Amino acid sequence: MTTPMDEKIEPIYQEVLARNPGEVEFHQAVREVLESLGPVLVKHPEFAEHKIIERICEPERQIIFRVPWVDTNGVVQINRGFRVEFNSALGPYKGGLRFHPSVYLGIIKFLGFEQIFKNSLTGLPIGGGKGGSDFDPKGKTDGEIMRFCQSFITELYRHIGEHTDVPAGDIGVGGREIGFMFGQYKRITNRWEAGVLTGKGLNWGGSLVRTEATGYGAVFFVDEMLKARKDSFDGKICSVSGSGNVSIYTIEKIQQLGGKVVTCSDSNGYIYDEKGIDLELVQQLKEIERRRIKDYLNYRKDAKYVKNGNIWEVPCQVAMPSATQNEINGKDAQTLVKNGCIAVGEGANMPTTPEGVKIFLEAGIAYGPGKAANAGGVATSALEMQQNASRDSWDFAYTEDRLHKIMQNIHKDCFETAEEYGAPGNYVLGANIAGFVKVARAMLAMGVV
Ligand code: NDP
Repeated sequence: MTTPMDEKIEPIYQEVLARNPGEVEFHQAVREVLESLGPVLVKHPEFAEHKIIERICEPERQIIFRVPWVDTNGVVQINRGFRVEFNSALGPYKGGLRFHPSVYLGIIKFLGFEQIFKNSLTGLPIGGGKGGSDFDPKGKTDGEIMRFCQSFITELYRHIGEHTDVPAGDIGVGGREIGFMFGQYKRITNRWEAGVLTGKGLNWGGSLVRTEATGYGAVFFVDEMLKARKDSFDGKICSVSGSGNVSIYTIEKIQQLGGKVVTCSDSNGYIYDEKGIDLELVQQLKEIERRRIKDYLNYRKDAKYVKNGNIWEVPCQVAMPSATQNEINGKDAQTLVKNGCIAVGEGANMPTTPEGVKIFLEAGIAYGPGKAANAGGVATSALEMQQNASRDSWDFAYTEDRLHKIMQNIHKDCFETAEEYGAPGNYVLGANIAGFVKVARAMLAMGVV
């Protein structure tokens, strides 16, 4: 089920399909943006004349490399590393690294493409990029993780830098991995260059609130959508998927705003806790002990664990998918709407399939797409870069306030753009157009480069 595209844009999309065969997630991400851009070309014919859309769909640079390393048994392992430097019109490429066995070029390109518009929406001077590897960190020792990260950055270091490309974390890459990569980068380059990576530890150049930022930001965004409908989180039953970085801090902020989160999950199953998720327990299990979410039951006897279950069947008023792409399909979206869901905020990137998005939009619920709702992570990374550049460090309250204001501005920008283009309440259209126009104007100003 797809929405028809503007007749000037359809051939551009066909060209993307032909030039990037088999990269289905990339096709999906491009289609979703291009579907929104028809009215922009009417207002700005100069974008078509200068082939801005064609250029934006082609990454500026794509790097693919071998990552050899030795496991604990002395066996040589070979993974593949990627960095797609998609667009640098607004600033150095910026975007996370994902370590997950499902990673291939199509995943990195979808994430890098989304990142261009997300970073533009933050209003901060950052371009879009993304990277990662098909390496699976699950079950690996700290030594193995360190050797892998060292090998990965031993190639990637020549392509990155504080003014060029600034990676951060994503699935499978958190503070531990950033530490190992920063250490090896410093050793190879003989430079203590804080601005080359974000998500650093607090005592060596990191920023307060960066760990919490994506989850907190997503909740701030949903809070704005609710406020626009004269509503709030107070007393709402909420469903959050995943139990990683984004999920944990989404749960924390919802609880602070008076909502009750009743689920969390990992790739094996989900937890339902009618009394409300015990966040301290989840943090102990996931952040400290690196265990599976089913172990939650060992401590909370009243909760339920549903192996391989469908988390979206749990009735909720607010849903915050925070695990991975395409985790909500059309049927799940229907179930959510039927069960009384009034708001969806995407902590994950592209967690809803096109069918699901259509159902949310047609139902008229408040639907915040990932490129707007989860932009708080990269925005706070940019704040980390600002602190590094001025050799300063800001306190928690000040940094969280900056994040809050950025999310309010992103909401306002998407909301007003949707109204301006005759689609009030459609945050998909609002985010795509608002994000695109800033990049397009910068590209236009810089000539054909
Ligand atoms: P983490 O690695 O910390 O956590 C990921 C969570 O999602 C885990 O619970 C994991 O379960 C689950 N998960 C991952 N892949 C799958 C899958 N294929 N099926 C079901 N569950 C899965 O990652 P983050 O929290 O950092 O990232 C989560 C999402 O948020 C991603 O889409 C990411 O791109 C997006 N995001 C992250 C940002 C950040 O700052 N970290 C910024 C913006 C977006 P398991 O352990 O079983 O794999």
